[in-house]
Amino acid sequence: MAHEVKTTCPYCGVGCGVIAKVEENGAVSIKGDPDHPANYGRLCSKGSALGETLDLDGRALYPTVDGKRQSWDAALDLVAETFSRTISEQGPDSVAFYLSGQLLTEDYYVANKLMKGFIGSANIDTNSRLCMASSVAGHKRAFGADTVPGNYRDLELADLVVLVGSNMGWCHPVLYQRLAAEKAKRPGLKVVVIDPRRTATSDIADLHLSIRPDGDVALFNGLLAHLVEAGAIDQSYIAAHTTGFAETFSAAASQSFADLLDATGLPAMQIRQFFQMFAATERSVTCYSQGVNQSSLGTDKVNAIINCHLATGRVGKPGCGPFSLTGQPNAMGGREVGGLANMLAAHMEIANPDDRDRVRRFWASPSIAEKPGLKAVEMFQAVADGRIKALWIMSTNPVVSMPDADAVKAAIAACPFVVVSDIQADTDTAQLAHVLLPAAGWGEKSGTVTNSERRISRQRPFKLAPGEARPDWWQMAEVGRRMGFAEAFAYSSPAEIFAEHASLSAFENHGSRDFDIGAYATAREADYEALIPFQWPQQAGETASESRFFANGGFYHADGKARFIVCDTAAPERVKADFPFTLNTGRVRDHWHTMTRTAKSARLSAHLAEPFAEIHPLDAASLGLADAALVELTSETGARILVRTLVTARQSRGSIFVPMHWTGETASLARVDTLVPSVTDPISGQPALKHVGVSVKPY
Ligand code: SF4
Repeated sequence: MAHEVKTTCPYCGVGCGVIAKVEENGAVSIKGDPDHPANYGRLCSKGSALGETLDLDGRALYPTVDGKRQSWDAALDLVAETFSRTISEQGPDSVAFYLSGQLLTEDYYVANKLMKGFIGSANIDTNSRLCMASSVAGHKRAFGADTVPGNYRDLELADLVVLVGSNMGWCHPVLYQRLAAEKAKRPGLKVVVIDPRRTATSDIADLHLSIRPDGDVALFNGLLAHLVEAGAIDQSYIAAHTTGFAETFSAAASQSFADLLDATGLPAMQIRQFFQMFAATERSVTCYSQGVNQSSLGTDKVNAIINCHLATGRVGKPGCGPFSLTGQPNAMGGREVGGLANMLAAHMEIANPDDRDRVRRFWASPSIAEKPGLKAVEMFQAVADGRIKALWIMSTNPVVSMPDADAVKAAIAACPFVVVSDIQADTDTAQLAHVLLPAAGWGEKSGTVTNSERRISRQRPFKLAPGEARPDWWQMAEVGRRMGFAEAFAYSSPAEIFAEHASLSAFENHGSRDFDIGAYATAREADYEALIPFQWPQQAGETASESRFFANGGFYHADGKARFIVCDTAAPERVKADFPFTLNTGRVRDHWHTMTRTAKSARLSAHLAEPFAEIHPLDAASLGLADAALVELTSETGARILVRTLVTARQSRGSIFVPMHWTGETASLARVDTLVPSVTDPISGQPALKHVGVSVKPY
């Protein structure tokens, strides 16, 4: 009989609720869930095409070892034996896990428990390092914890929404739909877009600031100085709830207006217009995404934005706040279980001995990690130089998505032992695996995800996993048991894992941490099955549909106060004589990451059929390039790619935009991340994927 299952979209961080209708013949149709508070029934092109991506083409259906089919027992034994032997011969830091914001929270929890609590290393990082690590670091510096203060409703309650480094129209489409609908209803709501490109998102902007790459810190430092001059700061909020204002203002005010013009490349009139709008509008939300995070100044950019919200007291109140938009469906859930190499579960810190002790006792851990592990870029460098000898990659495709992707590919190819867990057998990374473990995919597995507004929702299965595919949490628990940790990994369902995760969040917490879902610690299978989306923090018995942090202070630094942070305005010089154009990479509307799922939908692939290099008409003319001409791009990594031009005035002069998705045999020359050098933010370790010097020449 046909039946419907409520679940959550597996793509972006908006985290839309989805209803999958399964017909008697097995056909699946998808519609938005009208009851889900992220989308209230809306879906974007990718979400609505999910039913077209469920075929078995290219699926990994059974475990393989060196390309030959093996039983699960044989494959898991080999993984456990090889990791155990490597650890005993070379130490725990000779192995590593590389995870993904596509994983469910339960998968992430088990992986972190195994690596940090039982192997005793923190060499576990994730592609979320490429996505929002700078926001995590910025939140921790300002608030004392990685906390997003507001929620989606704030965008509809605001009178000014500033979008910085965010093509929300394509990358968070349903949130954009909500914002556009509110603006249509209430034209007094103003939208400012700060982005070097005039993207689709700019179509609803009252003001588009085509800022120079990495000019954001200078702009927001300038805004802070203007807010003081204009008398628009909230002195009582600053005095009651913050520290560090005087030094931060003094540093910001030392920037001359001429320096500001130079750093941002913006006309003076536009800067003044933006400053006046922000100063005059109490209900202001500033959303930021990869244009802020994916930068060697990413953490300072985040704090420069937060500084302006703290100075005006516009934090955690309806229609107010800085708002990090996470790229991936479960980047936030990964953070909750300590998915990054410098974090512990339940938002605790590896560097904090009390936190380590608390987690060690909760897990009855024999060897808790004592220090932060290698962040993503460092991890693959350690694979390349032989420090990492056994690597397990789950649900991600670093051969395409990491900076300096050719070097990453060579490192993985030379690593003595590589395990890949994936739903597809044919990804660029899966092809380098010694052991390939078939993973259950969306619609087949069960667990939870957390979206950008801290809302935890269920992903529910509505079809059987094909062949011998199994959930990632099960794979890791089986390896944990085989490594001698049977009791700690005796999970029989994701509901058990979720209950343990919730219990840890409340363990000796006493309100000392922001993340607490202890109300769910006793959730049984039936409660878990019926779980309705909720925002944390949520105490037992609470039913609030929306929550905010910090309206009245209560920050997570020891003194309860937020920190103003002095932010460096010096934008790095990446454009050199040999590489005179600035390459910016990013998403297109209808594809997701390396297209392992979205390429299955002809409808989605029809939007933009091949990779391209957006270039301004005057730059194209100066190089003698027509529209759709083949060009060769090269960078300091020594790599080159070939793509067709897309000549458009939406692109700013001197800049090139190339989408990040394409890979594989037919478009292997368009793996754009081969051009990106391994430059990272020194605080967050997030790579600078949007500011790369390249040369452009006709092919
Ligand atoms: Fe999925 Fe994001 Fe589209 Fe919502 S906006 S349907 S979560 S891709």
